[in-house]
Amino acid sequence: MSVIRERLATLKSSLPAGVTLLAVSKFHPVETLQEAYDAGQRVFGENRVQELVAKQPLLPPDIEWHFIGTLQTNKVKHIAPFVHTIQSVDSLPLLKEIDRQAARCNRRIRVFLEIHIAEETTKHGFSPEDCRTLFREGLSAACPHVRVEGLMGMATYTDDMEQVRREFHTLRALFEELQPVAGASFGDLSMGMSNDYAIAVQEGSTIIRIGTLLFGEREY
Ligand SMILES: *Cc1c(COP(=O)(O)O)cnc(C)c1O
Repeated sequence: MSVIRERLATLKSSLPAGVTLLAVSKFHPVETLQEAYDAGQRVFGENRVQELVAKQPLLPPDIEWHFIGTLQTNKVKHIAPFVHTIQSVDSLPLLKEIDRQAARCNRRIRVFLEIHIAEETTKHGFSPEDCRTLFREGLSAACPHVRVEGLMGMATYTDDMEQVRREFHTLRALFEELQPVAGASFGDLSMGMSNDYAIAVQEGSTIIRIGTLLFGEREY
C-alpha cells in the first residue's frame, strides 16, 4: 500500500462522520496528487493561482478544487471557470470580483469568508464585526453569483494549544451566530491543519485542511 493511501486511511478513520478532509497539495507534483486521487481523495486545496491553473487540467475532472490562499482580485478570472470553493475571501472587493467572474462563466461559485482569529497580524481575514456587518447589509442579494457556504480561519502558530482552542472556539461561536441569518447553504466551518486539526474537530470543524500530515514536508 502506498504511503499516501495509508496516511489517508489513518486520518479518515480518526475523523467523526461529517468532517471532510481537504488535501492541501500545494508545492507537490501532480503525480503525488494523482496518488491521493487513486486512493479515493477528491477534495484538494491549493494556495497559488498559477500552480492551481497548471495542475487542474492534468488531473481528473471530478476533483473539487478549493482555493485557500491569498487571492488578488485580478487573478480571480483564471480560476473562476472551474474552482469549486474559494475559502479565502477576505475583503468585499474580492467577493464582488468573484461574483462578477462567476457571472461571466455562467455559474455560481461557493465561497467561505476568511475570519481573522489569530494573534498574528500577518494572517488575513475579516474581523468578526466586519463579517456581521456584511450579512446585515444583505450579502447574497448583492452577490447573486456567489453562495456563502461557511467560514474559514487559521489559528495562531503557537505551542499554546489552549490559545488555539480559544481561537477555534471564537470562530465556531461566530459561525453559529450567523447561521440563522446566513441561509440554509451556510453549513461549513473550515478550521484545523496538520498540527491542530484534532482540536479544531473537537471545536466543531467540518473541513480540516491537511498538507504535511498527508504528503510530508513541503520543499519551497
Ligand atoms: C498550507 C496550508 C494548510 C496546510 O498546512 P499543513 O500544516 O501542511 O497541514 C492549511 N490551510 C492553509 C490556508 C494553508 O495555506
